[in-house]
Order: sequence, then structure tokens, then C-alpha cells
Amino acid sequence: MFDKGALLVVSGPSGAGKSTLIKTILQEQKDIYFSISTTTRPMRPGEVDGKDYYFVTKEEFEKDIEEGMFLEWANVHGNYYGTSLRPVLQALNEGKLVLFDIDVQGFFSIKTSDLAPLMTSVFVTTPSMSELKERLEQRGTDSREVIQKRLENAQKEIVHMGEYDYIIINSDLEISKQQMRALATVARLKHAQDEIESFIKNWCKS
Ligand code: ADP
Ligand code: 5GP
Repeated sequence: MFDKGALLVVSGPSGAGKSTLIKTILQEQKDIYFSISTTTRPMRPGEVDGKDYYFVTKEEFEKDIEEGMFLEWANVHGNYYGTSLRPVLQALNEGKLVLFDIDVQGFFSIKTSDLAPLMTSVFVTTPSMSELKERLEQRGTDSREVIQKRLENAQKEIVHMGEYDYIIINSDLEISKQQMRALATVARLKHAQDEIESFIKNWCKS
């Protein structure tokens, strides 16, 4: 009926649980595509190139910017992160729900892009900053210096949480997973004006 897919943008402080929640949805649902970002940050233990991110050099990233390859890109915590446009458009044309784990700057870029009408957004956070610090320390993938940078950035990001459609306070993981499942379902029900007009035309003829 509706050919186009939809976008679900997930943002929130690093360590809030975005990847954990996204993984759950990817394992459970069909017709879903995770937008694998490109980054210049070093790979963490356990991460896989081409699965978690495409890891590239600063020079490679800057070449892609010049060639207009990105739907959006940003400098986060001193590293480049970006979303390539082409695979997103392909997944949308295949009717898939496209999941993004991107920062607040990336969210604003998509919000002002042609894809905005297809976007649902959710901000994921911990109940407190001390809980965020604890999770980052427990995850054990970042140095003390990097954790400090992420906590400072979190304070800048959190002031924008009210600009998202939905908010998940990730305290009890099972409840958060349930909320994320609900959002993935709701996001698929969003349609752009041109799709709606074409549906109405066909509806009247049928
Ligand atoms: P992000 O993708 O937002 O950076 P992660 O998904 O990597 O965050 O989660 C950060 C850490 O917190 C991980 O070690 C994860 O297992 C843990 N975590 C996620 N959700 C919860 C939760 N509700 N309660 C406790 N720990 C959690
Ligand atoms: P991390 O280094 O913890 O994987 O990610 C750091 C931050 O970068 C997170 O807030 C994450 O959402 C954001 N991020 C990851 N990929 C992208 C992207 O392609 N674009 C933007 N704007 N932010 C991204």
C-alpha cells in the first residue's frame, strides 16, 4: 500500500543504552535497516568494521564530505561521524524502517532535510548523570579522559531532549526495550504527503 519506508532516529548521551536498545529491535523485527555510520574514531574492542561503523581516516572522511556522499555529518567528541545517503535511500525504497544512532547535530540535519516527513525521533537517556558515568565506566571501552569528554558533551545534548518526538528514560532495561519496540511500530505508520496523495488517488479508484 505504502511503498516507502520510514526513519527512526535515536539520539542521547553516549552510554545511555542506544546501541543496546537498537540491537534488540534489529534481532526481533523484519524489514529493518540499521544505518551504519562512517567514523574517524578508533575502533573499540569487540567492534567490527562494516557492522558497527565504517572506520576510516580523517582524509578519507573529508574526501567523502567534498564529494557530497553524506546525508548528514558532524564532529562529535573531536571525531567525525556521518551517515551515507545512498544506502538510506535504497532501504527506504525497499520499504524498510531505517534506524539511526546519531547525535543531536545529525538529528537537526535530518529534521531540515527532504526526509524529515518520514522521521520519528527518540531521545534516550539515563535517569541521572552519575548513572551515565557509572555505565560508561562499567562498559570499560573508553579511557578516563574520553569518558570525561562524553560527560561534558552529554550536558550539551540533554538540553535538546524536548525537541524529540519521544523520550526513553533507560532505567529498567526490559521496560525500555518494550518502549523501543512500540516506537519501531509507530514509526512505520508515518508517511510523507506525496505517499498519502498517491494512496488517496488509488483508494478512490479501487
Ligand atoms: P550507547 O550506545 O548509548 O553509547 P550502550 O548501549 O553501549 O550505550 O550502553 C552503555 C552500557 O550500559 C553498556 O555496558 C550496556 O550494557 C549498559 N546498559 C544499557 N542499558 C542499561 C540499563 N537499563 N541498565 C544498566 N545498564 C545498561
Ligand atoms: P560512539 O563513539 O559512542 O559510538 O558515538 C558517539 C556519538 O556519535 C553518539 O552520540 C552517536 O549517536 C553519534 N553518532 C554516531 N554515528 C553518527 C552519525 O553518523 N552522525 C552523527 N551526527 N552522529 C553520529
